Amino acid sequence: MTGLSDSFQRPINYLRISVTDRCNLRCIYCMPPEGIPLMSHQDILTYEEIRTIVKAAAELGINKVRITGGEPLVRVGVPKLVEMLAEIETIDDISLTTNGLLLARYVAELKQAGLRRVNVSLDTLKPEKFQVMSRSRYNLADVLAGIEAAKAAGLNPVKLNTVIMAGVNDDEILDFARKTIHDGWHVRFIEFMPFPGNGAITSQFVSVGEMRKRLGQLGELQPCKSAVGNGPANYFRFPGANGTIGFITPVTEHFCFQCNRLRLTADGKLRLCLLSEDEIDLKQPLRNGVSNGQLKQLIEAAVAKKPLRHHLAEGQMPNNRPFCQIGG
Ligand code: SAM
Ligand code: SF4
Repeated sequence: MTGLSDSFQRPINYLRISVTDRCNLRCIYCMPPEGIPLMSHQDILTYEEIRTIVKAAAELGINKVRITGGEPLVRVGVPKLVEMLAEIETIDDISLTTNGLLLARYVAELKQAGLRRVNVSLDTLKPEKFQVMSRSRYNLADVLAGIEAAKAAGLNPVKLNTVIMAGVNDDEILDFARKTIHDGWHVRFIEFMPFPGNGAITSQFVSVGEMRKRLGQLGELQPCKSAVGNGPANYFRFPGANGTIGFITPVTEHFCFQCNRLRLTADGKLRLCLLSEDEIDLKQPLRNGVSNGQLKQLIEAAVAKKPLRHHLAEGQMPNNRPFCQIGG
């Protein structure tokens, strides 16, 4: 492995792959109520095309991939993709981010195919609020069943991603925290990012500083390491808790200096930063018959353009894609 690094000497070893822009939910912080114009099926990379890109990226130094979306599990055959990626020798960590609704159905196949870890988005513990936040008729119970099925399949620890919004679910911060104490849950509180197209409003923002203040009611948080993973969260636990609390602060304290990631959109663009519009098209070159060597050059040239940091706190947001088309 040669090792890939950007022009700021950050090692780049992690690729997030969005396999679809489709989703069975319309979460209020992610999608506009009317949904989004969908990509055509021809525009979406085939699994073979994804494998070709990951293989080239792996030869350059990418060794971790995460499958995401839209909702990845609404695309047929995700276990097959996991199997194809697991066959690439230097890929040593394959994970998935999902809303959990279809997880119980597919988790055994996914595990068998080589999936190592799963993050499940869970923003409320209240069934009615689940339907409001996800703008859907689906049941929270199915997400909870997915989480339990993932644990039972041995995909431990299952990390839960919880986006906190003022006046929506900030009244549940302590309930989630109690789950880390009594049920060993691993909860990651994420600052809500106002994003063009998600239809949400800036006044719904809650900082991690505010969340921590409220959590003080349950005791003193002690710093700890995540059991697995090397993402942007800072981890803590309450005394005696088996579970952990992670904080992800994209707005109040950017973690760009440790960014190790690239993103591949479902329509084949290599996106250099979640919060910057720069993208390099890989799909057309691939469909024009680009060689493995040329593909690697395209990836290297893209990495060289990776920006130093995002400017969300200064009010600068990308405008070319909603969150669900980038992969979160
Ligand atoms: N559908 C899958 C899911 O919900 O886990 C994967 C895609 S989703 C876009 C990936 C992650 O992005 C989720 O954990 C979601 O909570 C997060 N996310 C979406 N919109 C967000 C926003 N405006 N601010 C912060 N996180 C957001
Ligand atoms: Fe769908 Fe995930 Fe976005 Fe919710 S956060 S609308 S589940 S892509």
